[in-house]
Amino acid sequence: MEAKFYLKHGKEKSLERYHQWVFSGAIQRKEGQPEDGDIVAVYTHQGQFLARGHFNNGSIMVRVISFEDIALDLNFWTSRLQMAYNLRNTLNLTENLETNVYRLVHGEGDFCPGLVIDYYNQTLVIQAHSKGIYKQVDIIAEALKVVYGEVVSCIILKCERSVQGQDRVLFGEPSKIQVQENGFAFMVDPLEGQKTGFFIDQRENRALLGKYAAGKKVMNLFGYTGGFSVYARGGGAALVHTIDVSEKAVQQANENIALNFNEPYHEGKAADAFDFFKDLPVDYDIMVLDPPAFAKHQNALSNARQAYIRLNKLAFEKIKPGGIVFTFSCSQVISKDIFRSAVFTAALQANRKVSILHQLSQAADHPVNIFHPEAEYLKGLVVYVH
Ligand code: SAH
Repeated sequence: MEAKFYLKHGKEKSLERYHQWVFSGAIQRKEGQPEDGDIVAVYTHQGQFLARGHFNNGSIMVRVISFEDIALDLNFWTSRLQMAYNLRNTLNLTENLETNVYRLVHGEGDFCPGLVIDYYNQTLVIQAHSKGIYKQVDIIAEALKVVYGEVVSCIILKCERSVQGQDRVLFGEPSKIQVQENGFAFMVDPLEGQKTGFFIDQRENRALLGKYAAGKKVMNLFGYTGGFSVYARGGGAALVHTIDVSEKAVQQANENIALNFNEPYHEGKAADAFDFFKDLPVDYDIMVLDPPAFAKHQNALSNARQAYIRLNKLAFEKIKPGGIVFTFSCSQVISKDIFRSAVFTAALQANRKVSILHQLSQAADHPVNIFHPEAEYLKGLVVYVH
């Protein structure tokens, strides 16, 4: 039997505004004893249906999947995923000869809390961020086959650590995949790589870097498999350095450069980003700083802010006059304003004059649900350093 949760009086308001989380403090009483990941229904204190979603015994107790009183079955998931597909179709991503890598489902941004799905040239990689999604993953894979038909050759499941699930192949034969992004080739390894294998959210920002790169010496710090590096080379950079702490990522960055260019004009270095600045001469024209989330939780916010200040200060101290810094934060808890103030402090401490050229965000296939702004996470500033 599906458990029923009744909310405290007045606590239905956020669900009536289509916010997709029910916090534990909002719940007055429960009928039934669900386990983590089970489907539960949520009612007002008077017993009116509000939503159906996935239970998790934590501060966010229910992640709402539907505000309609319908079953979360194959039909449901097919139409929900079709909705996401239609959006990507509008973005000209589904049948694009230059780009065959995109995000199909971006969690709450696509009304699917806990679920991320990336498309890599006929392979779909599902990332479960909640036990509820993990438990429903076979239905979700079936629904993907309905939406994509013959096009899909492989479906892979990856689990966020908190889910404590098993990564596995749900359909087809996995292999390393060659994808195209804006005409550039990349090898992606979903099973071994970070997250789903590639950072798709930076597609548009990489293209912007390409426009500034001609003749420049470019540092791509936290470069992973060289996404920004390939675009810098494609834009005519004189020399590109990819730096990442992961040896494997740097190796893949070298291979990705070789996939696209005969003359590499590229060097990969496995190093810690902060160490890399020590004794570094002032001779880069462009720096890209795309660190991992320094703060994953609210209580780490202050330390994270300090880390952004430290990193950007190092960059500002070492960038050539007239140089450009692409600086990013992908921590959800660091707001646009906090990030900007960290960059402000860094400029002040480095004693450089800094002008903002562009304010960047995640690519459009990572949409933000207007009712659930928490899905907005990537922030970037492109600044000119006088
Ligand atoms: N810009 C990349 C994505 C970066 S993800 C792209 O477009 O694909 C963040 C990267 O930072 C990861 O590859 C991780 O290995 C690396 N990293 C984490 N800590 C680091 C450190 N202290 N020094 C250098 N790299 C680090």
